[in-house]
Amino acid sequence: MHNSRFKVGVLALQGAYDMHAKRLQELGAEALLVRKPEQLEGLDGLVIPGGESTTFLKHLERAGFYEKLDEFCRAKPVFGTCAGCILMAKEVERPPQRSFGVLDIAVERNAYGRQNESAILLADTALPGGPLEMVFIRAPRISRIGPGIETLAEREGSPTLVRQGKLLAATFHPELTADSRVHQLFLEMVSK
Ligand code: GLN
Repeated sequence: MHNSRFKVGVLALQGAYDMHAKRLQELGAEALLVRKPEQLEGLDGLVIPGGESTTFLKHLERAGFYEKLDEFCRAKPVFGTCAGCILMAKEVERPPQRSFGVLDIAVERNAYGRQNESAILLADTALPGGPLEMVFIRAPRISRIGPGIETLAEREGSPTLVRQGKLLAATFHPELTADSRVHQLFLEMVSK
């Protein structure tokens, strides 16, 4: 398969990284778990998985990892899901926290309330192939998008899947459904 040329890292400090690696491998890419900043070298792209963005920040603030990852996000294709999307956002609300700021969006953390901690929704998408199943887990809400942002799916009028150049972000967990279109899209972005 043509994806086999690509080496895609999955940030594996915590959270839902295994299923991302599995999905990327199923699609033919080489998936590498990234636990140290030097493992970013030579990658064609990176997935920043869901988890807890505050915990990610704690791990990243050791040994220059944050700076290396910030550089990587400005240079290469990156796909952030949920906490990964929060880390990539220009503005983080509720409460404000540090982020790479590479993606021109504002996100509100844990925006759907406690009684709605997780949800599975089917929504229209700009991706070919019909409605997209989206699994939300203590999801953020994208509350603002800049002019360079393309919205590929929504929940109640707020974007849930966005693209800006070589950056892709989802507020849901595409690795938890059988639908591989979002990862396939990312691999197409990596191939360009
Ligand atoms: N609520 C988490 C955060 O604020 C994100 C949840 C997730 O990644 N599923 O970082």
